[in-house]
Amino acid sequence: MAEVRLEKVSKRFGKRVWAVRDFDLRVEDREFLVLLGPSGCGKTTTLRMIAGLERPTAGLIYIGERLVNLIPPRDRDISMVFQSYAVWPHMRVYDNIAFGLRYGRRKKRLSKADIDRVVHEVASLVRIEELLSRYPTQLSGGQRQRVALARALAVKPQVFLYDEPLSNLDAKLRIQMRTELKYIHEQAGSTSIYVTHDQAEAMSMADRIMVMREGQGAQLGTPNEIYFRPANQFVAGFIGTPPMNMLEVELEEEDGGIKLVSPHFGFRLGEKTARAVQESGVRQAVLGVRPEDVTVSLEGGDFSAQVFVVEPQGPQQILSFKLDETLIIKSLTSADLSVSPGQEVWLSFNRERLHLFDRDTGVRLN
Ligand code: ATP
Repeated sequence: MAEVRLEKVSKRFGKRVWAVRDFDLRVEDREFLVLLGPSGCGKTTTLRMIAGLERPTAGLIYIGERLVNLIPPRDRDISMVFQSYAVWPHMRVYDNIAFGLRYGRRKKRLSKADIDRVVHEVASLVRIEELLSRYPTQLSGGQRQRVALARALAVKPQVFLYDEPLSNLDAKLRIQMRTELKYIHEQAGSTSIYVTHDQAEAMSMADRIMVMREGQGAQLGTPNEIYFRPANQFVAGFIGTPPMNMLEVELEEEDGGIKLVSPHFGFRLGEKTARAVQESGVRQAVLGVRPEDVTVSLEGGDFSAQVFVVEPQGPQQILSFKLDETLIIKSLTSADLSVSPGQEVWLSFNRERLHLFDRDTGVRLN
């Protein structure tokens, strides 16, 4: 078991491309940590540096107490699972799983009986026991990925590294495998670092998420912290579907408090938020409101708006409102509310869940 630590790690490709820059991260022992971010933000490069497949340009990487910068991948006590099912096509499933046990670097050779026991143990954990005598070509994508997973599990590494392992699977299987991977992680009792650009996957699996942006950490936190208290506008906009509504607002002093003003609405902020705004001194902000925090009513609210589009989602529906030529805000509301395009309704924002960001820096104010 081991924690993984990155201290001021950077990776430059060629003269100009900084894939990762001054990146700090501490993954706790047995934690499931997800590296999440848009394409090109440096997730895979970070993972490959931890694996030893890429050498950092600067910075230190520790696995447990060991500084591993100069240690080759096979001696780092890690297993990696890739997006493409990296299994040997000419070997049966059984031999694929047994491979690392037979030929890996270990202090003591395992007996045939021990290998057989481990192969069956992990095959049962990932539910492919009945496939042990097949060849990979005789398997579906999901089954092949399970073989890759079983092979990684068999060698009982200190750290698992996953690089988008579910992205080649169909949507249904992906959701099923999420649950299974989480269960397997708990059973294996090792540390897992998981790369994805899929926020739903990250939210459902992670103990903590590190959101990355342009080679750096944008926020580290539990899924709930990231969702309910995004540290900046980038994280706020990246997490959540439909995405958070972002509205430019002015913040004005009024009777010792703060009034939030926009061309479409205005209201006084609660005391705590007002104090945070006053301390920041910021007067031009972006107000973030998640679609589920926009309440729609026929009776009254903060301001009125016309329904633009209705998108049914089963028990819920997404309603869009066009406030002006460029500004559309969305509400995620119960499908029980019956409205149609063109209809005039009232909107209000949940005051407990407002997010305010500095318009210049994007940093959270409240
Ligand atoms: P994705 O989700 O698309 O896989 P990512 O977040 O994993 O993206 P990386 O693959 O780590 O991103 O790439 C980060 C940056 O480094 C990108 O700008 C990429 O083009 C660049 N990069 C990655 N590998 C190399 C390489 N071998 N040579 C040159 N540039 C590279």
